[in-house]
Amino acid sequence: MPPSTPAEFETRLSVAAARRYVIELCAARRLPSESVALESALGRVLAEDVIAPHDQPPFANSAMDGFALRGEDLPGAGEHRFRLVGQVLAGAASAPACGPGECVRITTGAPLPPGADSVVVKENVHVDGDTVVVAAGEAAFANVRPAGEDYRAGDVALRAGGRLTPARLGVLASLGRVHATVARQPRVALFVTGDELVPPSQPLGFGQIHDSNRYSLGALLRQLGIEPQPIAHLRDDPVALRDALRDAGERCDLVISSGGVSAGEADFLPGLVADLGKVHFWKVRMKPGMPALCGEIGGALVFALPGNPVSTIATFLALVRPALAALQGATDDAAPVWRARLAAPLTKRHDRAEFLRATLQSREDGALWAMPLAKQGSGMLRGVAEANALIFVPEETRELAAGAVVEAWPLPGLC
Ligand code: AMP
Ligand code: MG
Repeated sequence: MPPSTPAEFETRLSVAAARRYVIELCAARRLPSESVALESALGRVLAEDVIAPHDQPPFANSAMDGFALRGEDLPGAGEHRFRLVGQVLAGAASAPACGPGECVRITTGAPLPPGADSVVVKENVHVDGDTVVVAAGEAAFANVRPAGEDYRAGDVALRAGGRLTPARLGVLASLGRVHATVARQPRVALFVTGDELVPPSQPLGFGQIHDSNRYSLGALLRQLGIEPQPIAHLRDDPVALRDALRDAGERCDLVISSGGVSAGEADFLPGLVADLGKVHFWKVRMKPGMPALCGEIGGALVFALPGNPVSTIATFLALVRPALAALQGATDDAAPVWRARLAAPLTKRHDRAEFLRATLQSREDGALWAMPLAKQGSGMLRGVAEANALIFVPEETRELAAGAVVEAWPLPGLC
């Protein structure tokens, strides 16, 4: 029961056009922000520009263990004997002043004593009671980390749209933050459909296969930090599918399904999405993954992905991942694309974009090389399991020589 009026939705879009369409839909559905403790913020998308409230480091300090002194006192030749007038350790409440010809013992991270502007590392001096002997060859201003060297007060330290990495969480903490304002995580419903599916825990009967998409799709979401709602297995039964879709459309921001979206007798998804809501587009000029559909039901955007395990992963990466990024306002990782040289020639006979499973190798010539794998069937998970990237062959391309530069999409987990 596909929608009877095909003119109502777009069809056979190019991958780029489908992605643009999806990003536009999601930009209008930006998720609200929330405040999250840093401990829980890894991978979340910043919803605020973070302005440094103070210099970082907040004060000039030593980069080494050694002796703080005035650079102008350093000898140009021979050696100079400095008078040791005290010490300052990291965390000390105050530091003794350093006058002409004097030095102060200092540890890494301790504030530079007033008057001092240079540090000589302890391994380079000879200490003789209250005298510190420094030979020629030391540089003025060396081994000092000036205040604000990393961030100046008022700098935009982190921009909205960036994903919080371990280092960025460290930056927030260094600026005195314990919370970050981030985009709310989308509520995602995930369905796998198909009468032939049984859980991997059950023995296979005639015509049955284990449901693998539940695990690969669930993991693709979890890699983005999104825990889907309990994943339901639905039979190819229009009544059950209708109830589940309507319910998920009311509860979720995004509904993702696998299977039942082609034009077979048991492919009910296109008709149901059209009935319950709206189909935005059905069919994208990509191989694998052609039958992918994008629509909406209730408040949710719907991605009905084809059930072939490789198609499911390719359409998730091409369409759903950019959608999730756009919903959260993420700017830096919607669809990472690398360039690589093709390790073997290839020929394509159709006008769809092709996603070839490949391994990327960083070779001695300094270039990245992409080797297409032998097994490219859209049902063959082995190809994706052994690959670390997908080579993107554009719609119009027919022949590519070995050595040609191609787009390679690193598979999640590689970067
Ligand atoms: P469909 O998109 O429903 O026409 O399914 C296409 C192919 O993918 C069929 O061979 C299905 O058996 C297979 N398939 C569908 N769903 C899954 C799943 N969850 N896990 C593994 N294979 C599946
Ligand atoms: Mg099916």
